[in-house]
Amino acid sequence: MSTSFNAYALIGVCLSKESWENGLKPEPIVEEKPGCACNAEFSKKKFCPECGQPNLVKVVINQKEIDKFNTYDAVEKLAKSLKLKMACGYDGDFYCIGVGSGPAGNYEPDAIRMEIRNIDLVVIETKLRKALAPLGLWDENEFGLWAVQYVG
Ligand SMILES: [Zn+2]
Repeated sequence: MSTSFNAYALIGVCLSKESWENGLKPEPIVEEKPGCACNAEFSKKKFCPECGQPNLVKVVINQKEIDKFNTYDAVEKLAKSLKLKMACGYDGDFYCIGVGSGPAGNYEPDAIRMEIRNIDLVVIETKLRKALAPLGLWDENEFGLWAVQYVG
């Protein structure tokens, strides 16, 4: 067993796993379906006159999508769609996305220079705000230069 230490520098936002889940996890899509197979004539009564089951039951039709939701995958997908990098904390307790740099994952000491001459902070902030605000995830206090350490 060995331990690896990786450090990343990202200009962007860093949010807890719970925040990302709240913003990215699909909402249940609910549909009403017949509660039994009696085919009794539709009535406004709550229960089937033949078997006593509810006439209509609510069914979540995207349950599989909700069950297979994975925060890491969802944040990574969002970062890729924005052409940004992602870094996460140990056990995925937080995730950061933005413009950044990090080691290639080898065990040698490493230092990577990130080109900053052409980085426009306003462009990055605008891009993130546009993507995150509709999800309820934008907080300008979370936008900044993040140093992320991952120990695995
Ligand atoms: Zn019935």
